[in-house]
Amino acid sequence: MSVLRELVESIRTGGIEVLDLTAPLSGTTPILLLPEQFGQTVPFALHEISRYDDRGPAWYWNNFTTGEHVGTHFDAPNHWVTARDGEDISQVAVSKLIAPAVVLDFVAEARRDPDFLLEIDHVKQWEDEHGPLPDGGWLLYRTGWDVRAHDQAEFLNADETGPHTPGISVQCARYLAEETPIAGLGVETVGTDAGAAHSFDPAFPCHSFLLGAGKYGLTQLRNLDRLPPTGAVVIAGPLPIVGGSGSPTRVLALVER
Ligand code: MN
Repeated sequence: MSVLRELVESIRTGGIEVLDLTAPLSGTTPILLLPEQFGQTVPFALHEISRYDDRGPAWYWNNFTTGEHVGTHFDAPNHWVTARDGEDISQVAVSKLIAPAVVLDFVAEARRDPDFLLEIDHVKQWEDEHGPLPDGGWLLYRTGWDVRAHDQAEFLNADETGPHTPGISVQCARYLAEETPIAGLGVETVGTDAGAAHSFDPAFPCHSFLLGAGKYGLTQLRNLDRLPPTGAVVIAGPLPIVGGSGSPTRVLALVER
């Protein structure tokens, strides 16, 4: 049997499970909030054009408004100043949108400490157990944060000192960007950086180093608990917004059962 026929047959018979790693997109989808001196993204919103009424008797349709970086979304390199002349979201090669993924599970650590940071040693220990990070694939960083995604305040977990959500240390972000073959980093939180990363040096190191190295980000993923540590294939479909810095994205995973 051809590889593609075998693939679709396995999906049909359940030998390969298709998982949705995407958060539903609505007006209550949590969004990033920046300090008030900066420009802000808008939340997702539907604007009804007609619904089987005088405005269109037989049809229902909407316009919508959204930020590029709302809900489960894809960060293109040009999102960050370190890659200002890098790829925009429409320029990401489609062959890179289907890629292997590994899952590093730090749920227990993030539950104990919402400011938990992944370090280089954590990655190396994981590699000792599971093998090298995938060439051209995704590092999916599981923290259990997806259970908070129903509520903006719980998701951002901010107090008077700012947001407190797990992330990656400066050193580890630089390591992943410069010394590993991954294509990108996927997270369950509102952005690829830790909540406190505004105070790091450099600030927002995942954005700075990974996008600066031409790598990608995927945010607000869910169902990572249903993926094996290795062996899943991720299909990520951002809209080809010409000149765009990112896009809400449907992210699927294929898992062998
Ligand atoms: Mn983003």
